[in-house]
Amino acid sequence: MKLGIVVGHNARAQGAVRADTGETEFYWNARLAEMIEDQARDFLGITVKVFFRKDMRSYSRELKDVYRRTDAWGADATCELHFNSHHNPAATGTETLTSGSKASMAFADAAQDRMLDALGLKDRGEKIVRVGRGSASLINGRAPAILIEPYFGSSRKGLAATDEVHEMRALARSVLLAAQDAFL
Ligand SMILES: [Zn+2]
Repeated sequence: MKLGIVVGHNARAQGAVRADTGETEFYWNARLAEMIEDQARDFLGITVKVFFRKDMRSYSRELKDVYRRTDAWGADATCELHFNSHHNPAATGTETLTSGSKASMAFADAAQDRMLDALGLKDRGEKIVRVGRGSASLINGRAPAILIEPYFGSSRKGLAATDEVHEMRALARSVLLAAQDAFL
């Protein structure tokens, strides 16, 4: 199966910031995407390609463009990488956004389970999103899509669970395991 990994945000508007290192979602998730691509070699039957969103001065055009590219590549599933942030530093946990389609739900269930195993954070569950923030990432492409928010970059717990290379690698692996669970 072909798994498209979409790095959330873009080089110009990089999203939320980790409270420890100051790394943005865009920067940190570009590193995570590279780890997913590297580790895909251990997964027979999964081919990964990383896609970056391009700033087009229009959110809807930007999202149409990137999912047009995952479609053109022939993605069987896509996963967009983010992390959460909140003004309340007590907000913590892992969540996965799904379009609610059967295949997207199966992928989201698997991703949520695998990320909880990898990071050990609070289970905020899967959220069906059809309108508003995040929905374009879930419905623009032909392939079943999910959007992951593995942790809060504003939370001490979230940061502690993701600040070492082996933790990041485990998170990268959880995305691949989820694809394997849901699609192979
Ligand atoms: Zn984001």
